[in-house]
Amino acid sequence: MSNAPFNFSAGPAMLPKAVMRQAQEELLNWNNTGVSVMEFSHRDPAYVKMARQAEQDLRDLLAVPDDYEVLFLQGGGRGQFSAVPQNIAAKTATVDYLDTGIWSGYAIREAQKYVREVNVAAGTVETGNGKAIAPRSDWQLSDNAAYFHYCPNETVDGIALHEIPADIQAPIVADMSSNILSEPLDVSRFGVIYAGAQKNIGPSGFAIAIVRKDLLGHPQPELSSIMDYQLQAKDGSMYNTPNTFAWYLAGLVFQWIKEQGGLAAMGEQNHRKAKTLYDYIDQSDFYRNSVHPANRSIMNVPFQLADERLDERFLLQAKDAGLMGLKGHRFVGGMRASIYNAMPLEGVNALIDFMDEFQRNA
Ligand SMILES: *Cc1c(COP(=O)(O)O)cnc(C)c1O
Repeated sequence: MSNAPFNFSAGPAMLPKAVMRQAQEELLNWNNTGVSVMEFSHRDPAYVKMARQAEQDLRDLLAVPDDYEVLFLQGGGRGQFSAVPQNIAAKTATVDYLDTGIWSGYAIREAQKYVREVNVAAGTVETGNGKAIAPRSDWQLSDNAAYFHYCPNETVDGIALHEIPADIQAPIVADMSSNILSEPLDVSRFGVIYAGAQKNIGPSGFAIAIVRKDLLGHPQPELSSIMDYQLQAKDGSMYNTPNTFAWYLAGLVFQWIKEQGGLAAMGEQNHRKAKTLYDYIDQSDFYRNSVHPANRSIMNVPFQLADERLDERFLLQAKDAGLMGLKGHRFVGGMRASIYNAMPLEGVNALIDFMDEFQRNA
């Protein structure tokens, strides 16, 4: 492919070209061993060295404090929807959730299986200026919640909570599947951070959990061993055979982010990309985004055409122009441009050029 497309898929999503090239180059001969990293025992010292380095690089990037475990798990983002309550809440517990979009809703319905009460503390509101997350003063928090859960970046809805909620007594749990590593983060404000890998980290099926150690030690008795944070921590995330290839690829992505200048550089680039696209959408009456500016995601930009009968033609012509993965989620329709870490600014500019031309010819 001489003209590789720009891939705006929401997930599995594009990964850095440099990482994919390196993985390709060493696919059959990893570390001068003559075999693929996929064919290595996870107990082999060379593999373990790589795996521990990947963990260290992730700790470096996020400046993870020492009192947190960093776990590499399986089962994707949704695996954590049950792992969280089963690991850190009793069956008799009440837990607080924000319901800010489709992923929060899935997390809530899963948690309901494992605790006595899931209290939905707040959701979204329609304002004259688009859909917004209810203001902090309107949240109905429980008195003794075992934890408070929210999704800082709703991948489908394109709704983000950019500040970490203040004045929350319970440990804060965040589903960062689609925004982890997109900008600097104060990990010390959280009890648990988790993320499925296929947006900003690596292949799907893999997941990361960053867990404050004092929350461990009281799992629900039915918690499956492979989802047991404490057991996995004790075994260096190798209680069972990990997804060795995903771990390796995630490690390459962490190194790539370091080479780009870390999360400060990523954040700057991501905010620039998002602002460029939102600014273009806002000055147009042909395209629109219906999220309040304060809650707009910098990773997933949904947008609608003024006339939805043009949607299909838009997608076909975009594909011909080398812009793929723009179809919105089946629940919300319209378009969505996912612009994760690996998407260069040139991709966003190419999208805007295409949108402009499409509008002129419509
Ligand atoms: C993609 C995504 C998930 C689900 O991840 P799976 O790996 O498919 O289970 C969960 N939460 C958010 C916010 C996501 O973007």
